[in-house]
Amino acid sequence: MVQRMLRTRSVKKRRVRTPGNRLVTHYKMEKTKVAKCNVCKKPLHGVPRLIPSEMRKLPKSSRRPERPYGGNLCSKCMRKVFRKVVSNMK
Ligand SMILES: [Zn+2]
Repeated sequence: MVQRMLRTRSVKKRRVRTPGNRLVTHYKMEKTKVAKCNVCKKPLHGVPRLIPSEMRKLPKSSRRPERPYGGNLCSKCMRKVFRKVVSNMK
């Protein structure tokens, strides 16, 4: 029996003929959804669509944009937040 985590229809299966002429099943996890801005819900740039285990293999700098709220807010919403913070300080 296959691993418990693979016993779901959301995992894609592919039958592959090996060089030793065996027919084996290769499992591939579905791609994750596009990361979206938490305020305006627009898709974020610079955030790859990878499953968490693949994401962990990447350097942190290529997982999300390197700026405050990178990977959570789009650049426009980030600027709005900062303007609000600055205006509250005055
Ligand atoms: Zn936004």
